[in-house]
Amino acid sequence: MTVRPDPADEVVDLVSTLIRFDTSNTGEPDTTKGEAECARWVAARLEEAGYQTEYVESGAPGRGNVFARLKGSDPSRGALLIHGHLDVVPAEAGEWSVHPFSGAVTDGYVWGRGAVDMKDMVGMTIAVARHLARAGITPPRDLVFAFLADEEAGGKYGAHWLVENRPDLFAGVTEAIGEVGGFSLTVPRRDGGERRLYLIETAEKGLCWMRLRANGRAGHGSMVNDDNAVTAVAEAVARLGRHRFPLVLTEAVEQFLAAVSEETGHEIDVDSPDLEGMIEKLGPIARIVNATLRDTATPTMLQAGYKANVIPATAEAVLDCRVLPGRQAAFEAEVDELIGPAVTREWVTNLPPVQTSFDGDLVEAMNAALLACDPDARTVPYMLSGGTDAKAFAQLGIRCFGFAPLRLPPDLDFSALFHGVDERVPVDALEFGTRVLLHFLTHC
Ligand SMILES: [Zn+2]
Repeated sequence: MTVRPDPADEVVDLVSTLIRFDTSNTGEPDTTKGEAECARWVAARLEEAGYQTEYVESGAPGRGNVFARLKGSDPSRGALLIHGHLDVVPAEAGEWSVHPFSGAVTDGYVWGRGAVDMKDMVGMTIAVARHLARAGITPPRDLVFAFLADEEAGGKYGAHWLVENRPDLFAGVTEAIGEVGGFSLTVPRRDGGERRLYLIETAEKGLCWMRLRANGRAGHGSMVNDDNAVTAVAEAVARLGRHRFPLVLTEAVEQFLAAVSEETGHEIDVDSPDLEGMIEKLGPIARIVNATLRDTATPTMLQAGYKANVIPATAEAVLDCRVLPGRQAAFEAEVDELIGPAVTREWVTNLPPVQTSFDGDLVEAMNAALLACDPDARTVPYMLSGGTDAKAFAQLGIRCFGFAPLRLPPDLDFSALFHGVDERVPVDALEFGTRVLLHFLTHC
């Protein structure tokens, strides 16, 4: 067997092929597709390099996941989980400059749905896993590679099912890396140069989907009715949608802002009433940071009535709520105050926040791996406003980080590519990320 001296040589092919599997997850089990074929293809790539793999369906036919383990030199240490999801959000081909499932490699990019979320990391992981096995490299600790279904619909038929029904797959795992972190953000330095910050995800907001319901008196639309369910729900929704929850600076956000301030010389006064305004000046990254300063309760669905002249007996709304670590009880009290006694609430989904500290040997290994490949790198922690499969793994007591390394061009609006039109990833970022991952996994 020939061993490729550099796993970065095959990463572009791997990512492009992964994108050609249409693994669109609509959120409806009937129309979600492609995960099983993609998972079996991943298993074959690993087996080719000598791995034993386990294919597992998570709660429904076709929801394919693949697991593989590589023994480390020190069995007394906890294992490291490297996880990536195989599903993607759907794409409307007419809106794209290339077909979203073409995996086209042009203009220095690999194009297609999943290019950054997250077939990039899946491809890099496969490339490094194959290299380790083929070159006979023993990592310092056990590695568990997991390729997963259903992340884009919350992992009910993926990570959460596996954690609840197959915890044995994660036996001995103490730490994990996955999306969304490890990518570079270029900031202007106070001395005139530039600095690449690499954002390591150390925290995620909690994700709570909340249903509001009002019951009122049904009746004819021409009558005066002071117990109208539609009015009650509409008022509660409007109050929540316009509410500004208090600003709470968590450790990750504070450390991130301090690092940016230090590098750029740009004063960020965290006590300023216009903190959001100051952060806006940082450019596209402001979208991410500003979403992690406060809890949010964002109205997304309304449902009531069936005819213009009939007052319905009930009305409902759904709000997408994102809650900072440590804020759940205070958040709920504030919500109850705003919706009042006429409206009831229940959780459709309630996944607690994830949070860890930015220190320890694993963080040192990330830092060293990035510096080995980019001497200008500086790692900084940050909080993700969205959710990932880390929410499931954290329930097993696993310490989770977002670390899918990419060195990006300074002007690329990376966060806009997630679920976006013309999603694409630079070829050189994939090659860079593969080398960083190889360094990291041989020193973790
Ligand atoms: Zn993702």
